[in-house]
Amino acid sequence: MTLTRAPQMHSINPANGETFHSYDMHTSAQVDQKLTAAVTAFQSYRCTTFAERAAWMNHAADVLDARKQELAELATQEMGKTLASALQEVEKCARTCRYFANNAEKFLADELVHTEADQAYVTYQPLGVVLAVMPWNFPYWQAFRFIAPTLMAGNVGLLKHASNVPGCALAIERVLIEAGFPEGVFQTLLIGSKDVEAILKDDRVKAVSLTGSEGAGRSVAGTAGASIKTSVMELGGSDPFIVMPSADLDAAASTAVTARTINNGQSCIAAKRFIIHEAIYDAFVQRFVEGLAALKLGDPLLETTDVGPLATPQIRDDLHAQVQDAVEHGAKLLLGGELPEGEGNFYPVTALSELKSTMQVWNEEVFGPVALIFKVHDLAGAIQIANGTRFGLASSVWTQDDAERAIFVRDLEAGSVFVNSMVASDPRLPFGGVKASGFGRELSRHGILEFVNIKTVSIGAPASAHHSRTE
Ligand code: NAP
Repeated sequence: MTLTRAPQMHSINPANGETFHSYDMHTSAQVDQKLTAAVTAFQSYRCTTFAERAAWMNHAADVLDARKQELAELATQEMGKTLASALQEVEKCARTCRYFANNAEKFLADELVHTEADQAYVTYQPLGVVLAVMPWNFPYWQAFRFIAPTLMAGNVGLLKHASNVPGCALAIERVLIEAGFPEGVFQTLLIGSKDVEAILKDDRVKAVSLTGSEGAGRSVAGTAGASIKTSVMELGGSDPFIVMPSADLDAAASTAVTARTINNGQSCIAAKRFIIHEAIYDAFVQRFVEGLAALKLGDPLLETTDVGPLATPQIRDDLHAQVQDAVEHGAKLLLGGELPEGEGNFYPVTALSELKSTMQVWNEEVFGPVALIFKVHDLAGAIQIANGTRFGLASSVWTQDDAERAIFVRDLEAGSVFVNSMVASDPRLPFGGVKASGFGRELSRHGILEFVNIKTVSIGAPASAHHSRTE
């Protein structure tokens, strides 16, 4: 295997632009060794019991809890999320490890099926080495929501994390080693995105899970498809947040503020398009924009900060270009929109209304603290705007009307509908999208079933059985 690579990866603080650590990237020979180590580890790990895996996974949760301050500070320094949100992220990873430690055996228990055979059942077996290609925005959560179910199912994992969070990527590997997982069961690869194709094509790798942008998804899903390998794609989103006249406006507006600016606005399931019924438009927008304006932009390590810097200068440039394009094409700037002076990738919380389908923001994901506000006449108009994008990740709907609610649940093209609450992932619920937001599910029983061989076992059959022999 020949891999192309730059020699180093760097940890660059988005709050001040300083490079505070550099890491040698793995050579082709090192990657090859790790692939072999993964295959070797799988031979014995696949035969471990659920109780053994659960003990390691619960220990991983304990290590995460014990190290949460240092892990959270590292994430804040590498990608700019507020320290408070980084701490919550590490805690959620620990909860998810415990959830799958406690539930994997039940989720993957053999299922008896009554047929004409003496005995028939379905049994779930691990696939082998699974590659995870992950984004920087929730550097621990994205990885652990893959790790906990995948390793509990008896697979082994390789992580290719985003190039701007090498410190978090290595910290995740250390957590799992300290937890006691056998050597080779989970390894981090410090490689660039160009190296993914060769690794995924390697026969030693059986499946891939990618969380990232639509472009990365198209490329990796294409390679997986050509290699006939299982893949799960968790891609971008442009989630609608719909407010109808019967909604509790104060609750809707304050939740909208959080839903747009969570993780400095860089979340796949952040509410991005606020679709507001005309009867309550002015009242909602006033509350919403006031709430956004009250947020404090600043040093993500400070407790008083609500919104930190964007992860990279490129993300800030791309976001500002989208905002400028909208304004040039007639959008109304209700808040923000001006690049601040000084160091760091800071971008002001921004709100835009009077949007048109010719604007970039109408058709593209807006990955930063920029709210897009739409006015609609009725429920049908709300659904038309909500579904009028290539994405279909999640959606949030605010109404007290049961009939309206039923229509939204039926008609919104999205992987989830949250009514009178904010979209959030939860290890107990499946997570994923439709359309260009991807396919497959993470979390819950649905998530753990993505990377298993659903094996049919049929033992004997009475001679008189009239079952089909056509296939
Ligand atoms: P990204 O640029 O697509 O990167 C994600 C990962 O994919 C990184 O590890 C990246 O490596 C790798 N990658 C990029 N292009 C690739 C290619 N052509 N082939 C193989 N690997 C490739 O996305 P991002 O900017 O880090 O993250 C933001 C995006 O992720 C947004 O669109 C967001 O909505 C989406 N996201 C989706 C979910 C979800 O669950 N649906 C969750 C979080 C984020 P390098 O860093 O080395 O380029």
